[in-house]
Amino acid sequence: MSTPTTPLDTTTSTLVTRIAALVTNDHHSSEAAEDTPLGLIRDAAVVIEGDRIAWVGAESEAPATDSRVDAGGRAMIPGFVDSHSHLLFGGDRTEEFGARMSGRPYSAGGIRTTVEATRRTTDEQLAANLARHVREALRQGTTTLETKSGYGLTTEDEARALRIADDHVDEVTYLGAHVVPPEYAGDPDGYVDLVTGPMLAACARYARWVDVFCERGAFDGDQARAVLTAGIAHGLVPRVHAGQLGPGPGVRLAVELDAASADHCTHLTDADVDALAGSRTVATLLPGCEFSTRSPYPDARRLLDAGVTVALSTDCNPGSSYTSSMPFCVAVAVREMGMTPDEAVWSATAGGAAALRRIDIGRITPGARADLVLLDAPSHVHLAYRPGVPLVAAVWQRGTRVL
Ligand SMILES: [Zn+2]
Repeated sequence: MSTPTTPLDTTTSTLVTRIAALVTNDHHSSEAAEDTPLGLIRDAAVVIEGDRIAWVGAESEAPATDSRVDAGGRAMIPGFVDSHSHLLFGGDRTEEFGARMSGRPYSAGGIRTTVEATRRTTDEQLAANLARHVREALRQGTTTLETKSGYGLTTEDEARALRIADDHVDEVTYLGAHVVPPEYAGDPDGYVDLVTGPMLAACARYARWVDVFCERGAFDGDQARAVLTAGIAHGLVPRVHAGQLGPGPGVRLAVELDAASADHCTHLTDADVDALAGSRTVATLLPGCEFSTRSPYPDARRLLDAGVTVALSTDCNPGSSYTSSMPFCVAVAVREMGMTPDEAVWSATAGGAAALRRIDIGRITPGARADLVLLDAPSHVHLAYRPGVPLVAAVWQRGTRVL
């Protein structure tokens, strides 16, 4: 038996039609009457060509294409951009979560439990665990993921984590400065020397970003500055874990070093908010973390009203936020953090893209990557209105239907 002939030109065009509400995140395409950052088009259609979006507009004006998909009067949004996760880990922390829900508070020290488990994990197990979580996120509409090292904390373990990450996700971050590992407990500055020296030299080739956990119990302002400036000298772009457990120097350091993002931002001074507002550093809020540590939520409203660009992300990790669900983060941000449904959806898509300094994702506009999520709902508002309900009906990633 012969196999069917493959056409020479494999670029085909697909029209997705009968989209009741299309979130483009292109405010130029917004209908005049609608006050929203989402660039909403009603009764819309989208043309996918290869891995890109070729055309967006009113259904009545859609061009002819090779094939056609009927959205059935449902809503479509850009694929979620999850700009903050920690998915290179072994084991889990079920017991710690149970204990915390029985009254024990969260501290940065729990990370060391995962470090021990991760060091015992083989490359194959680490890769399989990452792939499983990437797939889990995809099923919930996440088409771009950032993930970090930070549970190896030796040169070898950090480098292998990043090498594996580089094979599975779009955006890779070096977080050797997650916590000081037990073997450096008496010499934290010695550990900073390792992170900014041999470990960085081994890791930089696999990563685009350098990150540091600037927090009481982790790294102070001077140590964080040393980590970030060393990363910058190796061509990495900074992002910072700042203001999770209490106010500190992290946010202003992020702004000073033109970091792409300051992440957590739960505890902010007025000076922190002003610094963010006057910068291009995105504030990435991680509601899964406050949910899972039973902590007060960050005040998104305060940031938005000050003019700060806000992203939403899962912080998916086995300790403080073991969710890979961006729809969950949207729902919590709306219910608990003062965001409107439109703002939360924007922050989970275009906001995440801004936190990764990307303009090819997080939007449905001609030329952007064809990462699309069809919802089993007539409106994107249902992401907040129907919490916990699996609303993702179909996902296209780089123009290919993957779900
Ligand atoms: Zn984190």
